[in-house]
Amino acid sequence: MDFNSHADAIVRVAVGLVNELTPGERRGRDLPPPHDLAAAATEGLRAGYPGHREVTEEEARELAGVAARLRAVFDAVAAEDVDEAALRVNALLEETRARPLLQRHDGEPWHLHFHGTGGTAAEDWAASCATGLAIVLGSEFHDRLGVCTAPHCDRVYVDVSRNGTRRFCGTACQNRVKTAAFRARGRTP
Ligand SMILES: [Zn+2]
Repeated sequence: MDFNSHADAIVRVAVGLVNELTPGERRGRDLPPPHDLAAAATEGLRAGYPGHREVTEEEARELAGVAARLRAVFDAVAAEDVDEAALRVNALLEETRARPLLQRHDGEPWHLHFHGTGGTAAEDWAASCATGLAIVLGSEFHDRLGVCTAPHCDRVYVDVSRNGTRRFCGTACQNRVKTAAFRARGRTP
């Protein structure tokens, strides 16, 4: 039974925003800030809500700020500093004054949204994502937020596997590491 698919979707949005909007490294390559910020932000939101409208340039700039704050939460969990992650999520919840609200739209049944009081789309997403991460951190699955462990990749993920053994942002990085290990073995006499 899935009591809260909305929470799953907003955690996917948090992952999407971090991966699309924070610079760093991706799959072995340097990743500069996106040149089309609005497209990247839209892509991030669609990681959880595939039908999400395109965001504006201004919303994208705000969302990039939110993404940087969210990344710090994933980084803290990856460094096994759950205290730090919790403090950062609490700060976001506090700042956005995230509040639950039952809503019904687009033919969907009533479902729980989390909004901020700032009135902008980016603030609402910040409130939503902070709440989603708070639900994860407050559960027995608090270590399921992660940063890719492949070389030269710092994209993030949420591990929804049954046994919680995920270590990579995706199959591309998993295969990269496997291939490297295979080659290394080949060189061993
Ligand atoms: Zn990766």
